[in-house]
Amino acid sequence: MKNDIQIVDYIKATDPYYLQMTTNIDTFDTFFFTKQHHHYMQQALLEAEQAFMEDEVPVGAVIVHNGHIVGKGYNQVERLKDPTAHAEILAISAACQTLDSKLLSGCSLYVTLEPCPMCAGALVLSRLDRIIYSATDPKMGACGSIYDIIQDTRLNHQIEVIQGIMENESEALLKKYFQRKRK
Ligand SMILES: [Zn+2]
Repeated sequence: MKNDIQIVDYIKATDPYYLQMTTNIDTFDTFFFTKQHHHYMQQALLEAEQAFMEDEVPVGAVIVHNGHIVGKGYNQVERLKDPTAHAEILAISAACQTLDSKLLSGCSLYVTLEPCPMCAGALVLSRLDRIIYSATDPKMGACGSIYDIIQDTRLNHQIEVIQGIMENESEALLKKYFQRKRK
C-alpha cells in the first residue's frame, strides 16, 4: 500500500496531463482540482460535440452538485427555433428539475464558452456557486470579457469564476464549426 506522498510522486511521474501542467501547478491540491475541472469540462465538451453534429454552434454545459452531474445541455437555437435555447439555460432548467429546486446553491457550471449576458443573468438568478468556462468570447462574453455580470456587486449574488480549462479543445471545435459554415 502506497502512502499519500508516494501516490503523489507516482502521479507526477506517470500522468501525462500532470506532466503537461507542471509548469503552472505547484501543489497536489491545485492539481487535484484542475484534474476534477478537466473531467467535468470533458463532459461539457461531449455536449458541445453533440451540438456540432446537429449543426448548431458547438457549446455544451453541465451542472455539478456534490460530485454528480445534475443537469446538462447543448446549444439548440436552430432546432428549437429559440434564441434563448443556449446550453447554459437548458442545463439550468434540467438541474432545477433534478434537484426539485428553483435555486442552484452549491452547484458548479462547466461550460465550453464564456456565457453571454442572458445566460450570465440567468446564472445569477439561479444563485449558482461557481462557473468554470473554457474559451473566452470577446464578442458576447459576460463573465469578464465585455461585461462582468456574474461578479457585479450591484446585483444581489456574485459567482466565482475559473477560466481556461481545456480552452484549446473548445476553441478548436468552435473554429471547425465556423470554417464549415463558411464553405
Ligand atoms: Zn448564452
